[in-house]
Amino acid sequence: MTVHHALLPGAAAERPSREITLGVMGGGQLGRMFVHAAQQMGFFTAVLDPDADSPAGRVSHHHVRAAYLDEAGLAQLAQLADAITTEFENVPAPALERLAALRPVAPGAQAVAIAQDRAKEKAHFVACGVPCAPHAVIETAQQLAAVDAALLPGILKTARLGYDGKGQVRVTTREALAEAWHGLGGVPCVLEQMLPLAAECSVIVARGRDGAMVHYAPQVNEHQNGILAVTQAFPVDDAGVIDAALADQAVAATRAIAEGIGYVGVLCVEFFVLEDGRLVVNEMAPRPHNSGHYTMDACDQSQFDLQVRALAGLPLAPPRQHSPALMLNLLGDLWFAAGSDTQQSPPWDAVLALPGTHLHLYGKVEARRGRKMGHLNITGATPEAVRATAREAARLLGLTSASLG
Ligand code: ADP
Ligand code: MG
Repeated sequence: MTVHHALLPGAAAERPSREITLGVMGGGQLGRMFVHAAQQMGFFTAVLDPDADSPAGRVSHHHVRAAYLDEAGLAQLAQLADAITTEFENVPAPALERLAALRPVAPGAQAVAIAQDRAKEKAHFVACGVPCAPHAVIETAQQLAAVDAALLPGILKTARLGYDGKGQVRVTTREALAEAWHGLGGVPCVLEQMLPLAAECSVIVARGRDGAMVHYAPQVNEHQNGILAVTQAFPVDDAGVIDAALADQAVAATRAIAEGIGYVGVLCVEFFVLEDGRLVVNEMAPRPHNSGHYTMDACDQSQFDLQVRALAGLPLAPPRQHSPALMLNLLGDLWFAAGSDTQQSPPWDAVLALPGTHLHLYGKVEARRGRKMGHLNITGATPEAVRATAREAARLLGLTSASLG
């Protein structure tokens, strides 16, 4: 532990007799995988989440069961933890500010606040010189009336609290737009022009307090009903849509976006690749991301390892992908027999008999349709081998995917 004390010297001086503890706001699956990575390196962990059965709370050394804005809970987390991160982006910014007064917090409240608000996020992208979809902010009836018709057909998205396609309505006419805005409660929204997508990809970077930054190559993502379904992490030229020049452009854009807010920690930026080959930024997540879960089995350091390093002030060595990989998201739907409410266990025996399959389940007590229950990483010697195994796993699980052909 002395090494860790040296990395967080303030903590060592204050409490020389205790192990170093890393704290995380939120107890979901991302928190759980962060906790596992932290524990592997000898850190103790503390999770704040109101749910007694939260996936991360159940595996952490300490679980503070409190609401995210609960003063006493935040004080307890700060008391337990030497540095604190967040695992979900809707953690209230005031909670992070409160914690930051007491302990190092990464990413910072300001970066999280930008990622929480689509309008601020787009303004940040523009300020970094990274093109995003043509859009308009709609906060008032006047702004609604003044919307440029060129933005239709478009997607109306609530500026805050949307995720996995929630809080979004596709609109083609002004009337439908007005109806959709009122239907969303007249809350601040962003209307985005509907773009012709050839593909979607994302880039994950990790940036340390000293400004050093490392990245993974872009991965290609397929969404179904607004939720990530499949991530392919093959050498760039194998994916077909993302050539080396586009990959470089996406990495450079992600680095500029992280740099521009003095970001500390793991950041994921999602992009659209348009039919004409242009790259357009969609959104960013101030944390490890679902599209980076393949790194757990296909890279010498996972995105969670990098988050631990960034938070603890350890060096960020560039990660290396040692195997082509593909990830299948496992949603709660898999636990239900087709067209019925009867729960069943997916056929893990058959899936795990396939070579190069790595099953990750998040320990969620209850399966619900659309709920992220786990993911299956598939690695192999070649992209073809990985795809063949993925096709077979998808068949066994009853999953369909355009990326698998
Ligand atoms: P969320 O925060 O729920 O992930 P996104 O803004 O990423 O919301 O949208 C979810 C998905 O909807 C995207 O991954 C993409 O497939 C589709 N989508 C979103 N915006 C656009 C757009 N402007 N044009 C075309 N498709 C879009
Ligand atoms: Mg998204």
